[in-house]
Amino acid sequence: MSAPYIYSTEVHPCTHCGFCCLATPCQVGLSVGFPDKQPCPALEWDEQDKDKSRCGLLANPKRYLPPPAAALWQSLPEGERLSIMDSGTGCSMKARVVTPEGVVEFAPLAPEIKVAAAHSARAGRVVTLHTKK
Ligand code: SF4
Ligand code: SF4
Repeated sequence: MSAPYIYSTEVHPCTHCGFCCLATPCQVGLSVGFPDKQPCPALEWDEQDKDKSRCGLLANPKRYLPPPAAALWQSLPEGERLSIMDSGTGCSMKARVVTPEGVVEFAPLAPEIKVAAAHSARAGRVVTLHTKK
């Protein structure tokens, strides 16, 4: 008998665990040439809270983009940059977690479980997933 499958279209808040960006760059990251199917090189971690990620393309674009591209990117209004990055629209991770009880979505997991998953991914203990929207 197959495991119960739990899925919803509900939006769940982003907890900045970084798991999605560890799996593969987003479409914007791919469009600027970051390698596919590996951790995004622009993924940064907060200096105060080492478990909290942030997007380097938003926080420090000059580190990751050639000067003309960084200047063009920074000339856009902040709201437009956030919109392009799909920031503020909830957890974008479409991965599912297989447990003995069934298959559950990643997005609604508790923040501490997401952080634990990100720790495992940072340690190379998670099979890479490529399921971002
Ligand atoms: S949101 Fe930023 S850090 Fe995350 S994958 Fe996209 S470009 Fe990389
Ligand atoms: S996996 Fe979801 S909660 Fe974690 S950083 Fe990505 S979008 Fe946010």
